[in-house]
Formats: sequence, C-alpha cells, structure tokens
Amino acid sequence: MPIDDPTTATPSEIDEELARLGIEHAKATDTVNGLTARVHRLVNDGMAEYATELQPRIEQARQTIAECEAAARPLDAEFERRGGWTRAWLVLNTGGHVHRTMECRTCFPSTRFAWLTQLSGHDETEIVEQAGKAACTECYPSAPVDIRNQPRRIKTPEQLAREAEKAERAKAKAAKAITAPDGTPLRTKGYGQIDTEFTARRSYLDALAYARYLTRASIAHHRDTIAEYREDAQLILAALAALAAPRTTCAPNWLPRSKPGGSANTSSGALCRLCLAWNASPAYAPIRFPREDPYR
Ligand SMILES: [Zn+2]
Ligand SMILES: [Zn+2]
Repeated sequence: MPIDDPTTATPSEIDEELARLGIEHAKATDTVNGLTARVHRLVNDGMAEYATELQPRIEQARQTIAECEAAARPLDAEFERRGGWTRAWLVLNTGGHVHRTMECRTCFPSTRFAWLTQLSGHDETEIVEQAGKAACTECYPSAPVDIRNQPRRIKTPEQLAREAEKAERAKAKAAKAITAPDGTPLRTKGYGQIDTEFTARRSYLDALAYARYLTRASIAHHRDTIAEYREDAQLILAALAALAAPRTTCAPNWLPRSKPGGSANTSSGALCRLCLAWNASPAYAPIRFPREDPYR
C-alpha cells in the first residue's frame, strides 16, 4: 500500500511497499524490453507501420517505470535517513538460504530471492534464530552452532499471504454460521438443522407466517402444528439473539463439525480463532428482528 508519511512507517511497511514497487518495475521493464525488440524486428522486416502501433504500449510501460521510481525515492531516502536497518532475503529453491544482502558472494545474478520484509528492522540475532539451519554462513558468520542445527522457521511472503487468506476464509465462514446459543447445532422440527444465519432468518419468518396462517384457518384443528412452529420460531429467535452477543467462552462444539479439543478449539487464548473471528465480525451488531413479533 502506498505510504503517506515514510517518517512514521515501520521498516517492514516501507520494505513491503518497496518490494511491491520493485515487482511492478521489473514487470514494466520486461514489457519495454520485449516490445522494443519486437519494434526492431518489425522495422528490419520493413513493417514500420506495425511498429508504430506498439509505441503507446511502450510509452505506458515507461510511464509505469517512472512512477515506480518516483514512489520508491522517498522510501529509499527514509532508509538512508535512519542509517539503514536490517534486511533479509530468502533464496527461492529447496534448501535456499537466508541472506542479509542479495550481493552475498554465494549467490548469482540469476538467483531468485523472496524479500522477507516482515523481518526488516528486526534484530540480526532474531533473524538468525528464525532462519536456523537456513542462515547463510557467509552473511551470518557468528551464528551459534546450536541455532544452525534448528529447522528454518521463517515463512516466505507467499506463505504469509496464504495464511492471511485462510484466516479471512475462516472469518467469512464464522460470519455465516449459526448454532443454538449453547453452541450445539440448531435443530428444528420443521426446518431440520439450520447452519447459516441466512437460513435462520428465512425459516423464522416462514414459521411465523405459517403459524399465523394456521391460526386464522382453525386454531382448534391445527393446535399441535401451530405449537410446533411456534417452538421452532422461538428456538431460531434465541439463536439469532445470541448472534448479536459477542462470545466470551468457547462452546465445545459450536460449529457442527468441530469436536471438543478439536482443531477449532486449539488456538491460543481463551477463545478459538473461529470465536475470535465471530466477535470481530461487524455483521453481528445490527441484528434486526421483525417489528411484529408475537413470540418475544
Ligand atoms: Zn549470504
Ligand atoms: Zn471457539
């Protein structure tokens, strides 16, 4: 994301943006080089008029390059102003090492790196500790032997992005889920097990409407059925009301498939990540019930 004020940004934020600009810059450079080569071939083959058609795309890519460079300048200046900070790169192949610079003499111009921007500005001892056996001996000659025997704990930016995506999906799933207030599956007589808030709202309105319809038709004749739908409506309403309240404890099985002590309940803290996502979801605050509600 573009940084408004580099002086208040963290090294990681600045380097993350520099990495993004670097990738965009490299792509645009490839475009310029590729198209320019094509223009030369076309001109040599006597097809200069086709070459002219490529000019706008070359200009566009050049413009992108200039914009990337302009955006990177204040960030590079901030790096200099602070006297620099630690940076780390991971070589992208199996068993690739972590280096403090891409100029490391154990690497080649063709070596592909992932810039570990999440470690920018961190203590070198911490970087080495996280790198474990992946720490480059050339870049980090003083790394203790016991640390060199540990596995690599550093994640690549791609891995971090995937994890963030997964958390996002869990959040979306939690935002749609509904259970009985005690965390058990919401089971109804007329609508079976209800798993989503959407179905709950629809079923609630349906149960109300149907109970009213039967009441008008004949209370005496439909007494039992009316009672059943009334009971369903109350169950669903209680579950919807519980949605509005943040969770303070982790129900043992508030998602149908999560067992006590199962994967959903093993995260750190008192609440599992699904409950935390539940509480963080702004969708829960404005639960609105129908105005006319004979069962409340
Ligand atoms: Zn190195
Ligand atoms: Zn939980």
